[in-house]
Parts: sequence; C-alpha cells; structure tokens
Amino acid sequence: MHQPISIVAVNIRHLLFAIMLFLGCTTTAAADFSFVRNTGVAPGPTLLITAGIDGDEPGGIHAAATLITRYQIRSGQLWIAPDLHPQAILQRERGEMNLKFALIEDSDPLYSSVARIKQLVLDQQVDLLVNLHDGSGFYSPERISRQRNPGSWGQSVVIDQQTLPGNRFGNLQDLATAIVSGITPHLLRPNEHFQIKNMRTATLDPQAPTHKSLSWFALRHGKPALTIEASKTHPVHIRVYYHLLALEALLNEVSISFTRDFELTPQGVARVIREDAQMTLAQGRIHLDLNRMQRNLYNFPLPAEPQFSTSVTNPLISLQPEENGYRIHYGNNRLALLHPRQVEIAADLKAIPMIIDGIRQQVTPGAILAVDSHVQIEPLPDYQFTLAGHNGKWPDQATRIEGDRVAVDRSGRLLRLEIYRDDMFSGMILLDFRNAGEKTIEEEES
Ligand SMILES: [Zn+2]
Repeated sequence: MHQPISIVAVNIRHLLFAIMLFLGCTTTAAADFSFVRNTGVAPGPTLLITAGIDGDEPGGIHAAATLITRYQIRSGQLWIAPDLHPQAILQRERGEMNLKFALIEDSDPLYSSVARIKQLVLDQQVDLLVNLHDGSGFYSPERISRQRNPGSWGQSVVIDQQTLPGNRFGNLQDLATAIVSGITPHLLRPNEHFQIKNMRTATLDPQAPTHKSLSWFALRHGKPALTIEASKTHPVHIRVYYHLLALEALLNEVSISFTRDFELTPQGVARVIREDAQMTLAQGRIHLDLNRMQRNLYNFPLPAEPQFSTSVTNPLISLQPEENGYRIHYGNNRLALLHPRQVEIAADLKAIPMIIDGIRQQVTPGAILAVDSHVQIEPLPDYQFTLAGHNGKWPDQATRIEGDRVAVDRSGRLLRLEIYRDDMFSGMILLDFRNAGEKTIEEEES
C-alpha cells in the first residue's frame, strides 16, 4: 500500500523526447522550427518530412508530430520538421513562407528559417522531400462542382513533373500512384479518394507561385519532392488520418519499416492528439493535461525566469508570453492563459503521504490523481497545503465548487492542491474528481 505514484499521465511511456523552453529572452527574430530525426537501427533511405509551411493547416502539422511521438522506425530514417513556420501557426494564419524559396531578402524575418530548410533539403543524406499540406476542397482533373475541380487541392498527391531522372526516388508519378493505392482500401467514404495532381511546373510562367515553392526549390536542385494534401473539409483528426495513411503507403513503397503504438483509425488518431497534449512546468512540479482546461487559470504559481522551464510531450506545444501571462498553444489551438503568481521553487519534497479513497499512497508533486470520493493528507511537518481559491479551507462537497473559476477544468472537477513550505512552492497535485458525484472530500491535516 506504500507504492509511490508517479505522474499519472497516460502517455508518459510514449515520451520519446522532451523539449525544454527557456523563456526570458525576448527577440524579434522569428522562432525557429522543430527538427527531429527518427532513426531506425537498420540502414535505409532518408525522407525529409515537413509540415506547417502554411500556418493554418493543422492536419499536416499534427501528422508530422505524430511521426515523432508515436512511430518507431526500424530501417531508414525520417527527418521531421513539423512546424516550419511557428509564427504563422501561433497566429493561425497562412503566412507566405512557401513563396520565398526562389528569392528572399536577407532582411526578411524568415530568412534564417528558409536558409535552414534549404540546407536540410540539400543534405546529401536526404533521398526524398515530402511536404504535408491541408488543401481546399477535393482535387479533380475535371470540373464537377465548386468543391471538386482542377483548382482544388484536397485529397491529392501533388507532383511537379512525372520523373526526376538520375535519382533513386525520381519516379515521382510511380510513388504518387503507390500512395493513392495505399490509401484507397481505407477510405472513410468512396468520394474521398486521392488523385494525382501534376502541376507540370516547368511549363508554367516563371512568376507562378509554384516556381517559388519549397518543392520546386528541391527539384531544381536535383532532389525529388512530392506533396500530400488532405482536404480542409475534414475535421483535423480525419486529415491526420489521411496524411498518415499516405505516409505509411510511401514508407512501404520505399522500404522504410516502422511500428506505431496506436490503431490507425479516426478514433485512434483522435486519441493520440488528446493524449499528446501534456505539459510539465516548474522543474516537473506541475503537470497539466491540456485537454479540458479553463480559458484562464488565475493566481497560477510559476517560478521566476531562471527556474522557468517547461517540457512537453509534443513539439507543437508551447508557452508564449502575453501581456497578462503565458498562453499555452497546441498547434493552432490557443489554450489556457496562465495568470502567474511568482514563486520560488523548493525542489526537495519527493512525496506526500496521502490516503486516496482509503488507500495510503506516496504521491509525487506534479501528479494528477483520480479520486472517487475521499482525499486525506497525512501530517507533514513544515508544509502547508492549499486547495486553490479556497483559502486553505477544504470544501465539504465536491459539487459546491462545480463551475468555479479556480478549478483547472471547465466542469470544475479538476482541482489544484498546492504545496508550500513557508513561501516556497513545493509542487502542485491535481485532484481529478471527474466521477465524484456528490461525495465529500475531507482534510485530515493538522
Ligand atoms: Zn498549404
């Protein structure tokens, strides 16, 4: 009964990496994009997979991030840049990055990012560039309707020409055909089938936008490239589903072997997006499940800058300074605003003896605890406990605080238990009364 509890987050075992962000330097330069190599033990080709060059296309960025967090590559390599234009993603706008690969002024805020992308594309090790986009409507070579016509982009594999001779993966038309055939058995509806959209870019006016694109930059420099477009008419998780079907078909075609830890279904993808939404703050002393947070978390204990670190389970999660605090972002989603109360951290408390529903446990600061009915804290000299917003006084009924704005979640059932030693912050435990109904919680401290 004395087993210590570690942070209760469903996906902690999937935490392949953690990104540390140190806030405190304000700079006008554009934030740099994330880049992760997912490498197999056996040799094989290297694909560079990019997303987020247009900032308002969440399907592509979540698909690319999923390749980082949920796929294990057995042979070959994926080089993954899921958020090429972080500023545009935060602003939920397109941005113009994909028009800057023919010509860019060195005074352009995107100059260094574009240079870094070019460098990756031209890396000798990269065999093929794959861009992920969310496109309008449904591409169709003949005009069928306003949604389905040659000018649409959704549900297509875009190439600029049939082949790029002299390259191992220069058979672009064949690769696109393999992607389309790989997706077809898994279509959710028959009219969502993918088609190949050949831009024949070389025949276009040199001022055409495709001449300024990342793909065309790659091809002009002898590097094969293709683009996968999921339709913007789908909800985000369906777009991710189609992106991943396309990518898996491509990986199979080029003999990159892999495993993943979820079922590739719309439900499975939705679950992954939810489970990946976790953030750890204040040297691991605060852990947040980002899925059901209120819009504003007031009086939120956060350390001053030297101690201010966050780690996240997904590269699309970040904490951005705003006028009144720090905003949590997850891809295009603007989540809670943390209104900070500055604290100093005392990082020496390892565990808190608690009795949860009659079971004695050692609870780690930062834990999220599911509680059915009763929470008791065993005496712990020198430490003070407060349930946020209740002046240290525990409510008699969990239901009394329902909807209360001090709760972490919108239903008022996820409560902040904060632990202090004098003025020093020792950690936060989230008490999850999701299924508590009318039952009571009690305090046994002091
Ligand atoms: Zn796009």
